[in-house]
Amino acid sequence: MQNRLSLFALALFSCSAFAAAPHWTYEGAHGPAHWSQIAPEFKECALGHAQSPIDIRAARTDARAPELGFHYTAQALRIVNNGHTVQVNEDGGMLDIGGHPYRLAQFHFHTPSEERIHGRAYDMVAHLVHKDDAGKLAVVAVLFRRGAANPALDPLLANMPLGEGPEHRVDAVNFDAASLLPAKHGYYHFAGSLTTPPCSEGVAWYVLKDPVTVSAAQLAQLHKLYNHNNRPVQALNGRSVIEHP
Ligand SMILES: [Zn+2]
Repeated sequence: MQNRLSLFALALFSCSAFAAAPHWTYEGAHGPAHWSQIAPEFKECALGHAQSPIDIRAARTDARAPELGFHYTAQALRIVNNGHTVQVNEDGGMLDIGGHPYRLAQFHFHTPSEERIHGRAYDMVAHLVHKDDAGKLAVVAVLFRRGAANPALDPLLANMPLGEGPEHRVDAVNFDAASLLPAKHGYYHFAGSLTTPPCSEGVAWYVLKDPVTVSAAQLAQLHKLYNHNNRPVQALNGRSVIEHP
């Protein structure tokens, strides 16, 4: 019954509330190879030269690359199933990159990971999306490999809406995005884009080198909603990757 209700809700939303947004998917006729043809504002998905994600194969170590200063705060969980991913909306968390402040706007998940390291994809990735006062985006990627259960994911998995729809606010859950981060914050940095339409460029990427774990059971829970929501890797086109030790 629950599934039937979710499907009904999904149909309602696809036909009404979100009808204005161009429809895109991760496979078939509206999949990544066709995103640029779906709407004029999606052109950059094909024409851009600094697109994300990428396969990180070579990096230049730079000891002067800035540390990432995470100043996140716990807050009432606001979680949404937007038809492409499970997303948590945030307000108030700060990220300091070399003295430049960014505000945490939201984080969401892709399975498997979009970014690859030496050709290898991870089981899952969290993208923590930050914005500065000028509107410039900085995204921190946290990679997940299959292993021990990750307690930080439990409140998210327990409260994620099964069907596409509006944001759910869960006052009983106080969630701190810092619980998703690995202990060490060494990273790969490069210039890239949004990995979903409209694929806008000018996004600063920071892929944390140390993965955290997700259990097979936790992954299976997320896979009931999304098990293939990753854009394929894009051409590097001469971009260099900086590694922070
Ligand atoms: Zn993402």
